[in-house]
Amino acid sequence: MHFEFATAARILFGCGARQQLPTLAREFGTRALIVTGANGERFSPVLSAIEASGIRCSRFSIPREPTIDLAREGALDGRGFEVVIGIGGGSVIDAAKAIAALIPNSGEPLDYLEVIGRGRPLENTPLPWIAVPTTAGTGAEVTRNAVLDSPEHGVKASLRSPLLLARVALIDPELTFDLPARVTAATGLDTLTQLVEPYVSARANALTDLFCVEGMKRVASSLAVAFRDGHNRSARESMSYASLLGGLALANAGLGVVHGFAAPLGGMLHAAHGALCAAVLPAGVAVNIRALRQRAPSHEALTKYREIARILTGNPQAETGDAIACIADLVAKLSISPLRAYGLRAQQIPELVEKAARANSMKANPIALTIDELTEVAERAL
Ligand SMILES: [Zn+2]
Repeated sequence: MHFEFATAARILFGCGARQQLPTLAREFGTRALIVTGANGERFSPVLSAIEASGIRCSRFSIPREPTIDLAREGALDGRGFEVVIGIGGGSVIDAAKAIAALIPNSGEPLDYLEVIGRGRPLENTPLPWIAVPTTAGTGAEVTRNAVLDSPEHGVKASLRSPLLLARVALIDPELTFDLPARVTAATGLDTLTQLVEPYVSARANALTDLFCVEGMKRVASSLAVAFRDGHNRSARESMSYASLLGGLALANAGLGVVHGFAAPLGGMLHAAHGALCAAVLPAGVAVNIRALRQRAPSHEALTKYREIARILTGNPQAETGDAIACIADLVAKLSISPLRAYGLRAQQIPELVEKAARANSMKANPIALTIDELTEVAERAL
């Protein structure tokens, strides 16, 4: 057995945990840059509590998925601050992560971005930063990459470094209670994808498998409940926990074909990451299982897909193929739209497939998929 595991320096989890934020922030200084989404006003009580503790705050708002330009602007705004706090969904958390990294470095995202940038390692340690997720989706509070959109390249790419890990990940499930059902569905299926893909990943290990199995059990019991009843405390708590477990798993075991598509789709369609993953997930699982059966019938990933089917259906007799139907059922039950609803056209599929084949996440897929198989995934998700 060989593995390496890295995560945020501290993880605090629990309803009401946000009350500890001022004390935690004070440990890093008295000047904080607060990164929020477009409607960050809903976190005013949290911000007031930070200011009341004697910390001078300035707010930087991320109105949409973060772009290279926004990260650059945030890093300029953030000069002179001692700590960055990101309060919001995955976009906000990733923006805070990138800004904290860029402030003490060159400030130019393209110096460090992989795929489309120069991919240089960070010269200086990022500013300490605190992640406070308000969706149960991306697990970005414990990942070591920040995804930035480059409208110019029509693709999303990552800043990636072990130095990007948060100093504190503070997960308060109460912050997710008011999420609309549509966001609960998309972010919740991103969570499921981030548990399924690391579990069958070529880089899976014994420790991340534990997180994936427990996380999938939580999603199976809680996602549909949280979708119907957003104020169901135990369902929301379970989904926040599952999201954290997915983040821990993906940051250490990688992802696969669904996220391989999500990166270029995010750049081409500018739709929410979770909605795109949810749309691709059923086809990604179906094509992966078929490719494994055809070319690697004794592959461990097939046993793991059977385990996924058993966890998600609750039926200990379920077989590998049942994973396909139960995931498709869940996606349908949560009213997930196909990719054409976000503007993808059939003519764009060759371009999409070409970009997906080169995506970083694709490298961890349990089996290398052919161009024909990738095209089939895209066509089925359309
Ligand atoms: Zn994801």
